[in-house]
Amino acid sequence: MLFTRDLRVHDNPALHAAVADGDHVVPVFVWDEAILAGPMAVPNRLRFLSESLEDLRRTLRSLGGDLIVRRGEVAAVAGEIAARTGARSLFIADDHSDHARRRLAALRELPLRVTATPGLTVVPPGDLTPSSGGALYRVFTPYWRAWSAVPRDPLLPPPERITLPPGLEADTPPDPPTSGHSPALLPGGEDEGRRRLAAWVSGGLADYDDERNELARDGTSRLSAHLRFGTLSPREVLHATSACEPFTRQLAWRDFHYQLAAAFPDLSWRDYRPGRVDFRDDPDALEAWCGAETGVPIIDAAQRQLHHEGFMHNRARMITASFLTRVLRVDWRHGYRHFRDWLADGDIPNNAANWQRLAGTGNDPRPRTLSPLRQAARFDPDGSYVHRWLPELEALEGLAAHRPWKAEPSLRRTLRYPAPLIDPDEPVRRRSR
Ligand code: FAD
Repeated sequence: MLFTRDLRVHDNPALHAAVADGDHVVPVFVWDEAILAGPMAVPNRLRFLSESLEDLRRTLRSLGGDLIVRRGEVAAVAGEIAARTGARSLFIADDHSDHARRRLAALRELPLRVTATPGLTVVPPGDLTPSSGGALYRVFTPYWRAWSAVPRDPLLPPPERITLPPGLEADTPPDPPTSGHSPALLPGGEDEGRRRLAAWVSGGLADYDDERNELARDGTSRLSAHLRFGTLSPREVLHATSACEPFTRQLAWRDFHYQLAAAFPDLSWRDYRPGRVDFRDDPDALEAWCGAETGVPIIDAAQRQLHHEGFMHNRARMITASFLTRVLRVDWRHGYRHFRDWLADGDIPNNAANWQRLAGTGNDPRPRTLSPLRQAARFDPDGSYVHRWLPELEALEGLAAHRPWKAEPSLRRTLRYPAPLIDPDEPVRRRSR
């Protein structure tokens, strides 16, 4: 059983199939050299991943098994372990990224029966196709209708017992590469994910529709990194939250982006609709945006949240992305990379599709510019979000916190906060909301 982004024992189709298939199972995770050498390997996700592996190993041990952790080229490691243990079959979660497809092709070269099971999304990419023709849904609403109508199979229980083959010697896992992460990163692991899901279902879920856009409220589930690494099953999250349609709709957005990225493997660097937007080179503006120094409080507060927590509120992601691409006119690929470098939940389909959508190159044919000031007035009217992340502005109350440049000159001089990079009222004068 080769774990990848399904680091759990509950409702894990690959693990379930492996246990049903043979008397012995060897649970394996490989720190993949190709991923470790690439841009996806950043401290926040490496940290979340190693905590999740530790948790998985504890759970597998409690079931009589273990987790064999190696570092190297995945197919080579899998081949070596199979040869040593006499394994004849290999089970893995089906994944649709370019890298995952190459990995699966390499695994299929081994003298093993390879089974790739679904499990990373509620509905696997490619399962739903529009009746009007075409290999995928390009528009969300019909996808959502089709997605909602898919019959849901029962969830799979965790295995009662895992039996290792005899002679598998004790393992010294390689040191996880985990320094330099955000100080307030949420902890990883299936136990933690299940605790968070249970607390969300009995706590925040009922108010989700009312509170999810309130920046200071923390009215969203924060389950995204658990879904990213499969420490929670997306089907189980759906099962537990099915009473709240606004929430399950978000899970459908996630699947929608996965089917889009499966069909457009270039989504993270090529415009989905080319030739629609002219970006300009502005390294100073980009640096100010990344470094929380634009002088526009709602933008800088969001960046500080990202650096401190490895997470940014969805509404703040939308406002900052719109600001970078549509107000500063900086190429969305720069913003995508910055989010990729910091987000614990950062993945290619959701990061790229959302960036393209906000920038105007994505699947929304009529994107609008979000005015940072109007958004701030709607979603942080008392300035609490800005005060939390920019304490240097606490002397400015309510909406004044969003316009420090309008403060009395004597007060302004004491604030130690930069002047705005551009006139933030500018997008308000254009067509915006
Ligand atoms: P909740 O509101 O509690 O939603 C529940 C779950 O639904 C989330 O955990 C997530 O899996 C899914 N979801 C929610 N909103 C979206 C959405 N717009 N698109 C797809 N799935 C969604 N999400 C990622 O998981 N990874 C990313 O790399 C990522 N990059 C983004 C970049 C930009 C520019 C924007 C605007 C959004 C991005 N999102 C990304 C989507 C969204 O912001 C996060 O999923 C959400 O903020 C996670 O917080 P939560 O778990 O509390 O969400």
